[in-house]
Amino acid sequence: MTTKTTTVPAEHQSMFDAVLARLDVAAKIYGLSDEVATILKNPQKQVKVSLPIMMDNGTMRVFEGFRTVHSTILGPSKGGIRYAMDVCDDEVKALSAWMTFKCAVANLPYGGGKGGIKCNPREMSVGELERLTKAYTTAMADVFGVDKDIPAPDMGTSGREMAWLLDAYNKTHRGNFPGVTTGKPVGLGGSLGRDAATGRGVMISTLAALAKMKLDPKKVTAAVQGFGNVGSHASRLLNEQGIKICAIGDHTATLWNENGIDIKAAIEFVKTNNNVLKGFKGGVEIKPEELLTAKVDILVPAALQNVITGEVAQNINAKLIIEGANGPTTPEADPILKDKGIIVVPDILANGGGVTVSYFEWVQNKYGRYWPEAEVNEKHDASMNAAFETVWKNAEQYNTTMRMGAYITALQKVESGIKAKGWY
Ligand code: GLU
Repeated sequence: MTTKTTTVPAEHQSMFDAVLARLDVAAKIYGLSDEVATILKNPQKQVKVSLPIMMDNGTMRVFEGFRTVHSTILGPSKGGIRYAMDVCDDEVKALSAWMTFKCAVANLPYGGGKGGIKCNPREMSVGELERLTKAYTTAMADVFGVDKDIPAPDMGTSGREMAWLLDAYNKTHRGNFPGVTTGKPVGLGGSLGRDAATGRGVMISTLAALAKMKLDPKKVTAAVQGFGNVGSHASRLLNEQGIKICAIGDHTATLWNENGIDIKAAIEFVKTNNNVLKGFKGGVEIKPEELLTAKVDILVPAALQNVITGEVAQNINAKLIIEGANGPTTPEADPILKDKGIIVVPDILANGGGVTVSYFEWVQNKYGRYWPEAEVNEKHDASMNAAFETVWKNAEQYNTTMRMGAYITALQKVESGIKAKGWY
C-alpha cells in the first residue's frame, strides 16, 4: 500500500492537541466539513470534582476526579476510568475523543467519554481505593447512566473498582442498574470474555495485518510492552497463534529471549509476585527502551502513551506495530513510521476489542440473559475483523495510512450522525 505524506505541526504539545493534530490531517484527506470539525474539537461536557477521603492513617486528602463526555452523537458516551498520577483535564479530554472515534470504528452505538482520578493506586490500601471509587461515583451520579454515560476499567482500575462503582451508583439511585458500567466481575453481570477482550482484539488485528502482509504467524516474532490486562492477554493469545514473543516488559522489568519467552510461566509468575515481572527468570534483562527497537517483526506497545516518539520511530526494527495502548505513538512519529514502510494498526482500531465486549456486556445486561464465552469471542472476532477490513479499505481508497483510514472511518460515521440530527 503506498501512502500520502502529511506532516503534523510540531507545536502540538498536549495530548488533546495530539488528537486535534491527527483530526486535522484526517479531516483534510477526507474533506470533513468545518462545522463537524469544530464540533468534534470541543468535548460536549467536562466535569471536575474534589473528593475528600479519610486515609487509613487518619489524615484527610482531597483527590481530583474527572469525567469528560466528548460526544453522544452515535449513542451514550462510553469509556473507562483511569487511576494514575498523570490524570488531568487534558489527558481525559484526549482519551474521551479517542473513545468517540474508537466506538465509531468498532461500529458500536456509542459516543465517547473518559474519566479518571489523579492518584497512585499502587500506594493506596484497598479500603482507601474503595472509599475513593465510591466518592467519585457519588459525585458523578448525574453524569453516569445506563443510557447516558457508561464507565469501564482502564489503566489502574479493574472489575473490582467497577463493582464498587456499581454499588455506589445503585445506592444513590435506589435500584439495580448493572448496565451503568461494564467490565464488572462475572457474578455481578459482567460478561465472559471481557477480561481478555482487549488482548484478544490485539491478536485478531495482528492476524488480520499479517494476512495482508502475507506473513505466516508461525514464522514471526514479537515484542510486547506492558504486562497488565492488555499486554499479558495479548502475549498469551499471540503466542497461542504460534507467534514467538521475544520481549516482554512492565514498569519493573524488561526481558529478552531470542528463543521465545514462556508466556504461560510469566503469567503464573506475576500472579504470585504482586502483579510484577521483576524476578522472572525467563529471559535476560534489557533496558525498557530496547524493547521498542528490538529486532522483531511485530511491536505491540500495550502500556503507556507517547512512548514511540520521533526519535524512537527512527530506530524501530519491527515491520508491524499494533497499538494495544491508547496513544502510544506521538504525531511526530507518524510520518517517520510511514516513510519506513512500517504498518501501524492504530489504537482506535487495534484496542477496540475491550469496548466491543463492553458493548456485549451492556446488551446482555439489558436483555437479562448471558452468553457462553465462545459466543462472546465469536461475535468479538467477527466485529474486529469487519472493522479491520473497513479501515484497510478506507486507507487504500484515500491512499493513506491505517491510522488515517481509521480516523476517516470514524469521521464518516460521526459526520453522518451529526448531519442527520442537525444542530440549533
Ligand atoms: N478503557 C478501555 C478503552 O480504552 C475500555 C473502555 C470501555 O470498555 O468502555 O478502550
